[in-house]
Amino acid sequence: MTPRDMERALARHAREHEALARLSEVALREHQLRTLIDEIVATVTDTLDVQICGVLRVRDDEAGIDVVCSVGQPDPPSVVPVGKASHAGYALDARETVLSDDLTTERRFDVARLVALGMGSGVAVIIEGHDRPFGVLSVYSSRTGRFSEDDVNFLQAVANVLSASVDRQRKDEATRHAALHDPLTSLPNRTLALDRLELALARRRRGDATVALMLIDIDRFTMANESLGHTAGDQVLAALATRLRETVRASDTAARISADEFAVIYEGASDARDVVELAQRIAAAFGRPVQVDGGERAFTASIGIAVAEGPDATAASMLRAADAAMYRAKQRGPGSYELFDGAVRAAVMSRLHTETALRHAISEDQLCLHYQPIVEVPTGRPVAVEALVRWNHPDHGLIPPLDFIPVAEETGMIAELGRWVLEQACKQGAAWQQQLALPLKMFVNVSGLQVINPAFVDEVADIAKRTGMLRESLGLEVTESVLIEEKSAAMDVLSRLHDRGLRLVLDDFGTGYSSLGYLRSFPLDGVKIDRSFIDGLTDDRDDGAIVRAIIDMCRALKLAIVAEGVESEAQLVQLQELGCEFVQGHLLCHPMSAEEVGEFLARHLLSSDDLRLLMDGRSGVRGRRRRRRQADAVKA
Ligand code: C2E
Ligand code: MG
Ligand code: MG
Repeated sequence: MTPRDMERALARHAREHEALARLSEVALREHQLRTLIDEIVATVTDTLDVQICGVLRVRDDEAGIDVVCSVGQPDPPSVVPVGKASHAGYALDARETVLSDDLTTERRFDVARLVALGMGSGVAVIIEGHDRPFGVLSVYSSRTGRFSEDDVNFLQAVANVLSASVDRQRKDEATRHAALHDPLTSLPNRTLALDRLELALARRRRGDATVALMLIDIDRFTMANESLGHTAGDQVLAALATRLRETVRASDTAARISADEFAVIYEGASDARDVVELAQRIAAAFGRPVQVDGGERAFTASIGIAVAEGPDATAASMLRAADAAMYRAKQRGPGSYELFDGAVRAAVMSRLHTETALRHAISEDQLCLHYQPIVEVPTGRPVAVEALVRWNHPDHGLIPPLDFIPVAEETGMIAELGRWVLEQACKQGAAWQQQLALPLKMFVNVSGLQVINPAFVDEVADIAKRTGMLRESLGLEVTESVLIEEKSAAMDVLSRLHDRGLRLVLDDFGTGYSSLGYLRSFPLDGVKIDRSFIDGLTDDRDDGAIVRAIIDMCRALKLAIVAEGVESEAQLVQLQELGCEFVQGHLLCHPMSAEEVGEFLARHLLSSDDLRLLMDGRSGVRGRRRRRRQADAVKA
């Protein structure tokens, strides 16, 4: 190397160094990848004094290579082919730098175009990406053998600058995505959903497009999540999220805004009917069974819909309205939808009041229990009482349980409320057992949420012990839905309660699924035939047949049978003829305070021996007349 050559080499080195430093700086401050690429192409062309320079990017489907920026060609292609059909494609396949010192004799890849442009040599350098190459940086000179090892190293360094920048942008994008999306379902999260809603409302203010917000809540998901376990619960959510995404248009936003709540922002509906149609499709999609833990499970969703009205609709106001409509839908029953309107508004206000007031009800001693005796048919003797909770509201008087138990269940207050009821009922039951010197049974209604909680078993045993209530005299009334929907969790808790001597009774039988299967598989001691069948007993032949079938079935399974809601003598006589063992209803005694029921019990237990004398034969006219007399005795 002559001193002159050395000097030139040093000067080139310095230029390359300077160029790299500048590009690194641009890469740091520039957020637009395209600007950095333009800068790279210009700088490389200038520094190496080449005729053609370009940055090419591999398409996502890897079917072609896009030319992002290219200088030096009069009419550059927008895309070049993959594989041997191009220099870049060949380098990408080899995944390494490919130098061609003489393009006119190049056989490895197609050079026809480059040769036609008068190019003699060229280099293609890989720009690395995250898990596969981002693309290629290529340069061409009209001279053959133009590129030294130093030049190739320089190009590699430039490619590295671009590669680092691509990687940083990907990470930034991932961070942004993570901040705005739900990790489980990848759907937009609450923040992004509200942002998109605001944008949609802003667009609406400029035009007159419809904007609707739908909140979709999976019915009883908390219960399912507890019983299935959280991993399976997550599977369910992910599956339902996919269905939601598939049901809405790509231009609508489907989001997950809380644990068991999804949202859809629907823009451009022609009218409310369109929106309702979408709600119906979503409800149907959610209703299909989901594969979970090797089995299938069906869910339903309650949907609340708000359509933007007036010029000042905001994301917050729409969210409130849709939420209100959803609560209303929940009240109507699982799988319903509701559109926000004035009636919803009123219902929501009232529910909100109930919720706030209920929080104080326990601590301020506003709850009380009424009791209703259950009477043995042949003897007319009260054998048990059912505890029924009431809320003695300072302004509204006695509020029936169905007006506040569902609120307590939704808000989680049911755990505390249920504990209070159980404790009071056990205290009272133990007191009566002492006073009357009889093993009078106490039945307590329990909510499904209590029955799936494994800690409930110890809680019940503990309360019984503390209050002196005999476990064998304590009965729990559960409804069918929990047995069906939470089979395994309920089975576990109920079996353990049963092992400890508690009586288990199925309440409201006949109103739900009424399957023989679970009557057999659950450790039940008895069944209460729902009031609605007793109601129709005397005027509807079908109800008579149903009650007869239920009684026969329960007998075969050795389950005790209680008829609820007995209001007339005729009903009592008929039940007696059908062989029903126990009855409960206004005909015998209304639910009353502990004091009043205590008096009733004392009166009827004392006279029960006389009543038993009335018990007689089972057939014939005389028998029937006697039974009618017995019925009189029972209600006396
Ligand atoms: P349920 O357990 O089926 O209770 C029977 C309901 O029928 C009671 O209503 C009772 O007052 C009423 N009833 C009794 N005899 C007659 C009659 O002859 N005719 C008519 N028409 N009705 C009669 P109530 O007290 O309003 O309770 C309603 C439901 O609330 C109960 O149904 C039960 O499911 C629930 N419940 C009551 N107390 C509690 C509680 O402490 N915890 C839970 N989780 N639920 C409770
Ligand atoms: Mg009950
Ligand atoms: Mg009932």
